[in-house]
Amino acid sequence: MQTKLIQRMSENTTYGFGTNAIHAGQQPDPTTGAIMTPIYQTSTYVQESPGKHKGYAYARGKNPTRTALEGCLAALENAKYALAFASGMGAADSVMKLLRPGDEVICTDDLYGGSYRMFERVFAHFGIKYHYVSMQHADDIRQYINANTKMLWVETPTNPTMKVIDIAACATIAKEKNLILVVDNTFASPYLQNPLKLGADIVMHSATKYLGGHSDVIMGALMMNDDKLYEQLAFLLNSCGANPGPMDSFLVLRGIKTLHVRMERHCFNGRKIAEFLKTHPKVDQVYWPGFPEHPNHDVAKKQMRDFGGMISFTLKGDNLEEAFQVASSVKVFSLAESLGGVESLLGHPASMTHASIPKPERERAGITDSLLRLSVGIEDIDDLLADLKQALA
Ligand SMILES: *Cc1c(COP(=O)(O)O)cnc(C)c1O
Repeated sequence: MQTKLIQRMSENTTYGFGTNAIHAGQQPDPTTGAIMTPIYQTSTYVQESPGKHKGYAYARGKNPTRTALEGCLAALENAKYALAFASGMGAADSVMKLLRPGDEVICTDDLYGGSYRMFERVFAHFGIKYHYVSMQHADDIRQYINANTKMLWVETPTNPTMKVIDIAACATIAKEKNLILVVDNTFASPYLQNPLKLGADIVMHSATKYLGGHSDVIMGALMMNDDKLYEQLAFLLNSCGANPGPMDSFLVLRGIKTLHVRMERHCFNGRKIAEFLKTHPKVDQVYWPGFPEHPNHDVAKKQMRDFGGMISFTLKGDNLEEAFQVASSVKVFSLAESLGGVESLLGHPASMTHASIPKPERERAGITDSLLRLSVGIEDIDDLLADLKQALA
C-alpha cells in the first residue's frame, strides 16, 4: 500500500509546506463532502465476498482516518511513506525490531530519556548492544563501528543542552558502512528540519509534541522512502499493535493544519527569550542553537530552517534552591514535562526528565542543578518576557 502525498490535488504539482500541512492526504468525505476527515471509529469493515474489500479489512492494519494522517505526515517530511504509531516510543520500538540479537547501534549520547530506557532496559535483554557517542564530530562515530553495527540513531537538537549534530555527515558514514540512519526529529519538527533530504533512512517523531501541538494527544510517526523498510515497518506495526486510534489520528491531523504558523511564532518567541536570558544578570549559560557563538551554529544554520523555541539555561552559582524558586514562580509558563504545545512550559531536568541519571553523569552531560528548560509557546511575547522577568527577580 503506497500512501499518496496529496489525494485531492494534482499529483504532478509540488506544493509548499503550509499547503501540504493543511491538505496533504485528505479529500472531502466521499459520502457527504465533509471537509474534515471523519473519525472512522470502527474495528472492522464489511466485505462484499470473502477477501473482497476496499483496502480495509481490520483496523489494527489500516484505518481511513489514520491513512489520511499518514499521507499528510509523508508530505511534511518529503517522504514516500509514513506510518503513524500510538506513541513516539511505539514508533521507536518498531524501529528496534528491525534488528536481530548481536546487532549493535551507535546512538547520540544525550538521548531522550525514554529512548535510553527502552534501549537499555528492554532491547539490551534481547541481545542488542548500544554505544552512546557524542556525535558533535561525526567522525568520532567511526571508531565504534564494527561488523555487527547495523544502525545509527541520531537525535538533534539534543535534550536539554541543544547540541546540534550534522545529519548529512552522519549519512555519509551510514552509506559508506551500510548502516540504517534513523533521526529522531521531534525537537525540530518537519517545519525546521527534513532528515530524509539530508540522507537519513528513517525519520522518527513523537507527534505528541510539535506535530499535535496542543498537548492533548500521545502519538508517534515514522517516515521513509525505501520500499523494503516501509514494508518491514508496516508489518511490525500491524503485527505488534502499536497502532494509533482514529480519534487520536484526527487530533494530530487537525493539529498539523497550523504547524507552519505555530512554528513561526515558536521561533520568533524563542529568539526573543534566548536574547533576554543572555543579558539577564542572574543567568549563566543559555543553550540555544541560534546564537552565532553556539558551538554547532553553522551546522544548525545549514540543516535547519530556523532555530526553534527550545531553550535551556543555568543560573549563576548553580543553586538548586534558586532554580526551584524560579520554577515555582512562573505564572504564564507552566511547570511540566513535555514540549511543543501552544502553551509555554518550564522544566527542571535534574529533578524531572533526567532525575534517574546519577548526579556525576548528569553533570558531565551539562545537566547541572540549576539547569532549566523552556518549551516556548505561542503566547504574546511581552507576557512571556514579563513572566520570566518576575520569576528571576
Ligand atoms: C517525547 C519524546 C519521545 C517519546 O515520544 P512519546 O510520544 O512520548 O512516546 C521521543 N523522543 C523525543 C525527542 C521526545 O521528546
